[in-house]
Amino acid sequence: MCKRVWKVRQWTGALFLVLFLPGTVGAATLNGELVNPEAVASEWRLPENVIDTRQLPQFSLKKNHDADTPLPVYQLTGQTYFLFGTISTLNEDNRGWNGNAGFVVTDEGVVVIDTLGTPLLGQRLIATVRSVTDKPIRYLIITHNHPDHAYGAAAFQALEEVTIIAHPGTREYNKSSTLEESVAYRRDQLAEDMRGFSPPGADQYIEQSRFDKEVIELGEQRFEIYNTGRHHSYGDLVVYQPAEELVWISDLAFNQRTTYMGDGDSEQILEGQKWLLDNFPDVRLMIPGHGGPQTEPFPMVSKTRNYVQQLRKEMREAVEQGVSLQDAVNNSHFEDWEGTQLYEENHRANANYIYREMEKEFFE
Ligand SMILES: [Zn+2]
Repeated sequence: MCKRVWKVRQWTGALFLVLFLPGTVGAATLNGELVNPEAVASEWRLPENVIDTRQLPQFSLKKNHDADTPLPVYQLTGQTYFLFGTISTLNEDNRGWNGNAGFVVTDEGVVVIDTLGTPLLGQRLIATVRSVTDKPIRYLIITHNHPDHAYGAAAFQALEEVTIIAHPGTREYNKSSTLEESVAYRRDQLAEDMRGFSPPGADQYIEQSRFDKEVIELGEQRFEIYNTGRHHSYGDLVVYQPAEELVWISDLAFNQRTTYMGDGDSEQILEGQKWLLDNFPDVRLMIPGHGGPQTEPFPMVSKTRNYVQQLRKEMREAVEQGVSLQDAVNNSHFEDWEGTQLYEENHRANANYIYREMEKEFFE
């Protein structure tokens, strides 16, 4: 046999081993590209690839936007898709699309993670799934009760065959004045988009204790749904896809913006972030509820963590030194964070919340 042919055979053999030997092949390649550029209006500005992007998505949805038109969607891996919300508070342009959502297509159906912020956006999320696959939506996982993640739930409640999964704290939230106030505010701002709203109830609640998981399997995929406590809302979930090595961290850390703390527990945030880094140190992507998906070493987690630690330290000292709430909040400036998205909107509220937490700790 001529030497060249032998070499080619050797190479082909090696390639065969790499491609087909079980255990030698990782999950499907990371992609991150926009799937449907036709869904992007000419004046919108969206990154071409969403993984580790520094670009902020900019778009403007029209009043009475169409429920059946798919939204721009990115493919993270062969089966996993991501919708990138604006990094902003609710306004006339984002019309409640100021958080992320995603979905995973398996042989037996689709698992959706979060709903976007209004029933109308929930319908558009469903239209987006439909534009990618005709497989039925079998599960919706609501990571937490905040409007930007959960207020599209009504659109999914109207579907057949879908099991909605949420944190048990959602039941309590649905009876709270917090829900009433936030629904009233959204109805005032976005009356048409909120039509058909119903609270984000579920068929199945993750009753496990903190950091324990419920597992669902669909097609060839396995989804580990972790109860991560009440660090950011009435109850928070994190979803891990072992086959793809992706973790949907929800609002346990924020990317490309300042965090919001006004409805959780800052000590639990730090514990949750430690748990995340200890248990998923080398996943391929962490996908946050706000900002783009990120690869190792996940700087969004250490940055958010550092912000929370700094603010706790500053407010604890203020309480110990007898500084009033108002003065402590007025004196708080994080130079590293000034100029980042939502610093102006959130920092004072965060300082206020943490001061009260520290005060409670001090007097207890
Ligand atoms: Zn959020």
